[in-house]
Amino acid sequence: MNPHKVYFAPVGPSSGPDERGAALDRLLAAVPECAVFTAGERVAVKIHVGERANVTHVKPDLVRRVVSWVKSRYARPFLTETSTLYKGERSDALSHLAHAFQNGFTYENTGAPFLMADGLLGNTEIEVSIPGRISEIVHIAREVVLADGLIAVSHPTGHLGMGLGACVKNLGMGLSSRIGKMRQHSAMNPKVNEAACTFCRACLKWCPEDAIVERDGKAFIINENCTGCGECLAVCNFNAVEYDWGTESAELQKSVAEHAYGAVIGKPGKCVYLNALIDMTGDCDCMAIKQSPVIPDVGFCLSLDPVAVDQATLDLTERANTKDLGRTSFPRLDPTVQLSHAEAIGLGNREYELVRI
Ligand code: SF4
Ligand code: SF4
Repeated sequence: MNPHKVYFAPVGPSSGPDERGAALDRLLAAVPECAVFTAGERVAVKIHVGERANVTHVKPDLVRRVVSWVKSRYARPFLTETSTLYKGERSDALSHLAHAFQNGFTYENTGAPFLMADGLLGNTEIEVSIPGRISEIVHIAREVVLADGLIAVSHPTGHLGMGLGACVKNLGMGLSSRIGKMRQHSAMNPKVNEAACTFCRACLKWCPEDAIVERDGKAFIINENCTGCGECLAVCNFNAVEYDWGTESAELQKSVAEHAYGAVIGKPGKCVYLNALIDMTGDCDCMAIKQSPVIPDVGFCLSLDPVAVDQATLDLTERANTKDLGRTSFPRLDPTVQLSHAEAIGLGNREYELVRI
């Protein structure tokens, strides 16, 4: 398969489960050259099971179709994910797996076992060498490195730190170990705007590092303790937590792109990237809230190039909405930084040929 091709199966603007399932089946059946896995290979199927109250993540019935497709090559798929830095339903393997099963990602529903890629506490990893410009070594979840192949099932959304969270984000942040995640977030250096802070204490409660304390009746962030996880930005309802979106978002995006390369560099020709352009929300699926889509449904994109599939995501959502998903969600951020950097280090190409199925 030409690596610059992005195969695209459209759906209507408010698609339902049947239309989505049919489009995904059509896409998978139409691009046999994307089925790069061979008999006996262990194939990691990277998914996101959503946070508590999230209803817009990619559902088990679609994941089951991907699993069946991998099995049709007599390969051996397993679902996989990593623990989050922030406190929530997915911050270690036990709570993450319990939450996944509660959301229907069982063997019975998907046809594949679920294996946490980064172990019990999120720190099981392998150091991977990459031709990066920020890092020459990145910290990737061990079981993903050991897998023979990978298919990343990504759900594009807006992202408060990156503008767009899609395939590159799913690979970079989603497949790195806890250390890897902290390295990526280290570019974030939040501060509290005292004038806006009501001292509701929400950020103190949620900060995973106890880096936020009371000072003169306001929240105050102790920089030395902060890992840059962004949780305080997410939970503050008063927009009192600020960081330098311009430069820090760019650093975050570049670091995520380098970790994404680390997740796939050991599997040349054995990685497939599927973006589900449905139920696209302004914030990512890590938010423990119910969100409504900000853009009409578009369809499914499949490629052997993670950069091309994300560029196609921006282009297709721009066509559907006049502004792409990233700029619709976070107009201050430039979501193409991650793609330009990914291209510069050799992860993929922003130029592609769209093949409509
Ligand atoms: S969540 Fe926001 S308003 Fe509440 S204490 Fe923290 S910074 Fe202040
Ligand atoms: S202060 Fe730092 S560690 Fe704590 S929630 Fe905010 S970004 Fe995360």
